[in-house]
Amino acid sequence: MEEKYILTLDIGTTTIRSFIYNSRAEAVGKAIDQVILHYPQPGYVEIDPDELWSTVVAVVKKSLQDASLSAGQMSAMGISTQRSTFITWSRSTGKPFHRFITWKDMRADRLVRQWNDSYTWKLIKAGAYALYLVTRSKRFRAGSALKFMNSQTTLRLHWAIHNVPELKAAIEDGDAMFGTLDCWLLYKLSGNKIHMTDVSSASATGFFDPFTMQWASWAMTLFKIPAEALPTVVDTAGDHFISTSPAVWGHSIPIRSSMADQTASMWGSCCFEVGDVKLTMGTGTFFDINTGSHPHASVSGLYPVVGWQIGKELVYSAEGANSDTASIIKWAQNLGLFGDPEETAEIAQSVPDSDGVYFIPAFSGLGPPYNDGTAASGFVGMKPSTTRAHLVRAVLESLAFRTAQLYDCVRAETDFEFHSIRLDGGVSNNDFVAQLVADLTGLQVERPVNVEMSSLGCAHIVGLQLGIWKSKEELKSLRKIASILKPRREARQWYQAHIARWEDAARRMCGWYS
Ligand code: ADP
Repeated sequence: MEEKYILTLDIGTTTIRSFIYNSRAEAVGKAIDQVILHYPQPGYVEIDPDELWSTVVAVVKKSLQDASLSAGQMSAMGISTQRSTFITWSRSTGKPFHRFITWKDMRADRLVRQWNDSYTWKLIKAGAYALYLVTRSKRFRAGSALKFMNSQTTLRLHWAIHNVPELKAAIEDGDAMFGTLDCWLLYKLSGNKIHMTDVSSASATGFFDPFTMQWASWAMTLFKIPAEALPTVVDTAGDHFISTSPAVWGHSIPIRSSMADQTASMWGSCCFEVGDVKLTMGTGTFFDINTGSHPHASVSGLYPVVGWQIGKELVYSAEGANSDTASIIKWAQNLGLFGDPEETAEIAQSVPDSDGVYFIPAFSGLGPPYNDGTAASGFVGMKPSTTRAHLVRAVLESLAFRTAQLYDCVRAETDFEFHSIRLDGGVSNNDFVAQLVADLTGLQVERPVNVEMSSLGCAHIVGLQLGIWKSKEELKSLRKIASILKPRREARQWYQAHIARWEDAARRMCGWYS
């Protein structure tokens, strides 16, 4: 039988990866390059669309070369991308009005704070709560607790609509198109033919209603987002994404799936059952639970997102996120606290504790349960005896403490029985952090052989579409676990007092910039 190959393209926050998988889900070719981020002003984090496009084209070419295969030999491809990063461009010329404004960009921070504190928004939320009391509808309950976040697209788009004159004019002329990174990529790959985004990417923008599964009319009215500029929202997998234009890689490749990175990593980890949990510790931390066919209406700031929709199968996830994780590691590395992130676990273990030093990882504020965009970062409790190893340990501990807090929010709000956490992302390589996550959550942590979960997830979903694999059960049987870390009760008890101190410090950091 002729071998079938699947091409995957994953655009993370810091890297672009392309893999080629065979029908045993083994990677036979790969290439990785960096996403070039631009920081034109403090707080601004942008991606140049031309630079991104040429890197994407080159990375895929390199992965094909690595596998000694051609684009024509690919049965299909799947795409996963970072979420909420967006661009706007001209319908008539295809030219962007500005660079991508990424999910890490803080330019709308003031707007986020103003809106969250505004009388209008409080009134809208009170209205939603009143409706909840009358109807008992989860949708209104979720609405009554809704808070704007920098990481969502809504207020960054609102900012662009008001501050980019070309976009403003194009909206008036009906010439503006909006798209998240996946949407723009599909537009480019198809030779400017399709304007689509899948449900998982749409739901991460903040102005897609996961309950009605439509762009939220309240947001469009409130922020003057023109409906005609928005892409069609489609299923996560199917043949509606058509094929890549042959001009891109010499042959056209059918695109059979496009989805948000966290959805892809849920697929890579085989989180198919209600209550399955995956934890991605990459640039940020994303703790996702499969909540089945019902969106989770959170009150503590857990974010209900659409996991995926494929035909009749609609799966939601409840997500707790910390925007800063590997970004903290990178910062500490740049500061000279260590040379290579791989050294950090050993450095942290070289001291028995952090010498009473705590670190608050809040470069983009603190998520649940604080939900405070004005929180400050910093070390607390340094003394003459504090060494570099104590600081490294405090940094690593803080990443696990925040993860444990997210888990506590999830546990407080849901009735699921949790048994294990499927861990992935760059920081999952860190033995100290991974073990501490197991200890503090009391759950066993499973680390996969293949840590490229988003790419593998793309391969899984495309392979099912093509009939290479027959069922999700078959995908589960292909899953390879490298190590299982068991929770240690003594460690958990030992950390109780430290966590209480750290939580006290985190609370004091809240509201710092308000
Ligand atoms: P992305 O969000 O771009 O997908 P990744 O999941 O690839 O990010 O994570 C990459 C980051 O993980 C690196 O930049 C590095 O800072 C961090 N990292 C890699 N290995 C380790 C390690 N052993 N300990 C701590 N951090 C690590």
